[in-house]
Order: sequence, then C-alpha cells, then structure tokens
Amino acid sequence: MSQSDRVRLKAGHDAELLDDHSDEWKGPFTEYDKYGQPTGAHYVRCPDCGIEVLEADTRHATHRAGCSFDGA
Ligand SMILES: [Zn+2]
Repeated sequence: MSQSDRVRLKAGHDAELLDDHSDEWKGPFTEYDKYGQPTGAHYVRCPDCGIEVLEADTRHATHRAGCSFDGA
C-alpha cells in the first residue's frame, strides 16, 4: 500500500518539474512598438542564445545552434 502511494507522489513531482520548464526564459518583458508604446504583448529572452519570443510561443521556439536549451 505504501509503495503505490510513493509512486503517485513521484509522478506528481515530475509533472511539476515539467511545468517549471519555462524557467529557461528571462522575463517576461513588455514589448514596445516603434513609437515606444506598449503593444500589449510580452516576450521572453533565452539567457543563453538570446532569442526573443512571445511569452505564449516558448514551446515552439527554436534555439540557436549550440544553445544549452536547444532540444530541451
Ligand atoms: Zn536558447
């Protein structure tokens, strides 16, 4: 009985780690248009390769070659 409880706890912990995956990104920062006005969007920046993507697009982001987060 106690063994199955331990397995369930471990699975829950792994799920939290996956949710925490976005920690590779710095930000979010407010995006400004060419007039210096906030566009209402927010972006994040990879601290390693420096790419900037919209906050909602991090799962689809492509890191530059050699980035430590590439393929993570
Ligand atoms: Zn990167």
